[in-house]
Amino acid sequence: MSNPTSQQIKSITPPSIEEREVQTLEAIADSQYLTEGWPMLGTPHDARSIIQLLMRHSLAIRDPESPRVKQFVNRYYEVSTWNIQTVNFIRLHYELQQFFGRLDELFFFGLLTRSVARPSSGRKNLLELGIFDTVSAEGCYGLCSNQRSTSASAKPTTGSGSTTASSPKLESKEPPKSEAERQIGTLEAVADGLFGPSRHRGRYDTPYDGRTMALLSINHCLAVQDPSSSRVTRFAEQYAEVKTWYLETIDFEVLKDELWQLFARLDELFFFGLLSRKVDSPMGRRPVLIVEIIDDYDKKCHYAGRYLPKEGKIRLWLRDYRHPENRRSFRVILGTLLHELTHAYLGLADKKHENHGKWVADCKSHGEYFWALLQYLAETIMKFTDSPSWREEMDVIDAERSIRCLLVRIQPASALASFQDIAVGASGTDLEF
Ligand SMILES: [Zn+2]
Repeated sequence: MSNPTSQQIKSITPPSIEEREVQTLEAIADSQYLTEGWPMLGTPHDARSIIQLLMRHSLAIRDPESPRVKQFVNRYYEVSTWNIQTVNFIRLHYELQQFFGRLDELFFFGLLTRSVARPSSGRKNLLELGIFDTVSAEGCYGLCSNQRSTSASAKPTTGSGSTTASSPKLESKEPPKSEAERQIGTLEAVADGLFGPSRHRGRYDTPYDGRTMALLSINHCLAVQDPSSSRVTRFAEQYAEVKTWYLETIDFEVLKDELWQLFARLDELFFFGLLSRKVDSPMGRRPVLIVEIIDDYDKKCHYAGRYLPKEGKIRLWLRDYRHPENRRSFRVILGTLLHELTHAYLGLADKKHENHGKWVADCKSHGEYFWALLQYLAETIMKFTDSPSWREEMDVIDAERSIRCLLVRIQPASALASFQDIAVGASGTDLEF
């Protein structure tokens, strides 16, 4: 008999004491929210043992040359050069979430970001990190409490689970509305008046500028509040299904229905259902946004998609003028839809705000918070779908962002004329307005 290979040796080697200790901690994490069926725990897991385990066996100690350690160090040096006062909050939010995951991996055996079952809310990470660019509602700098680790991270100002139990307001049956709920209420009122006479557009009690709206979606949309929601699962399933379709042979009516459904799901996951909201218009009740899908190419401007604010409409062209015999790929169609929906959502923003230009309207409605929000949404979709082709779409979004800002800044008129050719060269897809 030949000698066993190293792979075979590895597979028959019994786990080390440290590996068994980590397994015990994983079993504890997995049973954290169970009321019965606790695991048999094979190794000690008192505070001293688990600290010693970290000190001799965490990835950072075991393998200090690991690429993951190097990645952490590189990000540390990069982020430490940032001016924290001026850096875009969404960028910072994303980076801190990444640091959370990396610290867990380096020191805590990935236990804190481990996905565990919860009785009422499906699977969630053992610990979630909520980051807010405001003063803490509790008046504390940091608060760690097991009950608050998930629901409170997403809803910092709602009454449930609040430490201010003595507050008489909490005794009333209706909990006080959180700032986020008030902001959503304001946006609903803005949407309701969208097609009415402008004199009917009232003054609203909370801000609804582009930055507030982007942060509202990022911190409070359903996809963030409840990532294990069945609605997120349905979106991920639909994505996985449609991505396998050969779009050329699909009946246009079927594809259209599917895209309308995707619109409704994206609206519910990220935009509080505002874009599908039915509102009054001179022509009768209609949704805030109508999605028109055209099984042809744009004969006039060669766009892939376009937002028409006055008509409350977006148009998607499924074909490309360079090879109209083929429909665009699902990745490009979904990327275009997401881009136009971001325009439509920010189309509700307060245009009178002093920073509306910089945040939303500049660069032909591709202001700073347009890109920040779009990138965040694309990253969240990446998390849900884990799709390599969607990763390509994120690269396209990055490329579009640099090209568009550069062109508009340098030479607005002439640059826009040659926009299409340059953009196609850089990203392989048409740009949309
Ligand atoms: Zn655009």
